[in-house]
Amino acid sequence: MSNSIESYIRDIPDFPKPGIVFKDITPLLASPKGLKLSVDMLAELVDPDSYDIIAGIESRGFIFGVPLATMLGKGFVPIRKPGKLPFTTESVTYELEYGTDTVEIHTDALDGNPRVLIVDDLLATGGTMAAAAELIRKIGGVPVAAALVIELSFLPGRAKLGDLPVHSLITF
Ligand code: AMP
Repeated sequence: MSNSIESYIRDIPDFPKPGIVFKDITPLLASPKGLKLSVDMLAELVDPDSYDIIAGIESRGFIFGVPLATMLGKGFVPIRKPGKLPFTTESVTYELEYGTDTVEIHTDALDGNPRVLIVDDLLATGGTMAAAAELIRKIGGVPVAAALVIELSFLPGRAKLGDLPVHSLITF
């Protein structure tokens, strides 16, 4: 989908390492119009009656997930990097190009709110989103859909997510 959100995204070549084109969302966040438009459009992607709560992936998933939850009258669950959450946690470790990464969630995060919309800024290989969905299943939740600002369609992110519906505002 092409829309005016795209005009607020800045390409930074070779960041954080050679060959990667980093999609910088800071101009979008700095723009009152762009920021509001992005949250408003995320709210339209998935029927709010189909989920109970919004989970955001640290840290850019927090930026969009919290205003979306506030706007829709939902609660918010943080999916965090290891060692940050103070209560009992469940974790999932997943493969990166070099090495591994881990995400964590509180074991009681979904008590009474089983159906989850997962929010992040960008879908690349899909490893992070797949780990987040697995984490939600591990604590008894149901990932309903993934909502993202940006999707890199030249990478196999969607394939990695199996049946989980993926919705994004812009595709590159
Ligand atoms: P992945 O697990 O490969 O789908 O990567 C997704 C995560 O890495 C997201 O949380 C993004 O914030 C970040 N990310 C990956 N690739 C890029 C990129 N080209 N530009 C900006 N962020 C990226």
